Amino acid sequence: MSDQHLKTPIAGLHHVTAISGPAQENLDFYTKALKTRLIKKTVNFDAPEMYHLYFGAHDARPGSVMTFFNREERGQGQAGAGAAQAFAYAVLPDDLPQWQAALGGSMSTRFGAQVLSVTDPHGQAFELVGEADAGPWGVFHSVTLWIDDPDPTAAILTEVFGYAFIGEERGTGGRRLRYTVPGTAPGRVVDLWVADEPVKARPGPGTIHHVAFRARDRAHQDALRSTLLARGERVTEVKDRQYFKAIYFREPGGVLFEIATDGPGFDLDEPIDALGGGLMLPPQYEARRAEITARLPDLVRPE
Ligand code: ZN
Repeated sequence: MSDQHLKTPIAGLHHVTAISGPAQENLDFYTKALKTRLIKKTVNFDAPEMYHLYFGAHDARPGSVMTFFNREERGQGQAGAGAAQAFAYAVLPDDLPQWQAALGGSMSTRFGAQVLSVTDPHGQAFELVGEADAGPWGVFHSVTLWIDDPDPTAAILTEVFGYAFIGEERGTGGRRLRYTVPGTAPGRVVDLWVADEPVKARPGPGTIHHVAFRARDRAHQDALRSTLLARGERVTEVKDRQYFKAIYFREPGGVLFEIATDGPGFDLDEPIDALGGGLMLPPQYEARRAEITARLPDLVRPE
């Protein structure tokens, strides 16, 4: 274990993965209404009968990547304690009125910033947060974790990941504790939402499956893994997710955390200009392409 790396904070969010309803509706909303880019069309590596669609900023930079396990059946999950509740994009404050005109939703103020709260067609809550130094469109501002007892989760964020406590605000039906890592990395804010009334999360369409934080490199990922293991967290082996290397553990509040590397990157199998063009399968599924494709619904890519 290297002290050097333990003093190195997480570089913000890498990606967020949620569960959606039918893939075509998911694709239409995130590309046409929300105007993020389809950057990868693949399958759930653990369940190849469903699509796994990735949306992001044009260059697919880490910290902009929102992905969905696309379930064709309907039925609804329930946001609640033990899962992430919402993800948020950073936008220029002046752009918020036109986003509200296009998407609907409600405006509020949080930690001095204007926030537009929206729900996608499958019930997933997300937000647009006004920020004077918002980067290109599609880059995350933050993620909100719904937690019953914030202290053990906060300890992971501050003692292992290098986040600092920023403050606490009262909101409708609960309180919000804000943490951030220093610097300018996209998605550097994590909020913990502690509701007054207990509600347990139930997985399904409209809920977030896991939150992936960004390691600076493989050595940083290894150091984080060693530190978590030494604290008694049950962390997986390093998994090859084709576009990045990943480790996973369930933090004490119940949220599935992932720590992912930037490399090899989303241009591993398609050039940046052509991202999202074809159905990309990892080597273990390439031999079954015809069978896998036959079971997936056709998707019409929006213009
Ligand atoms: Zn992931």
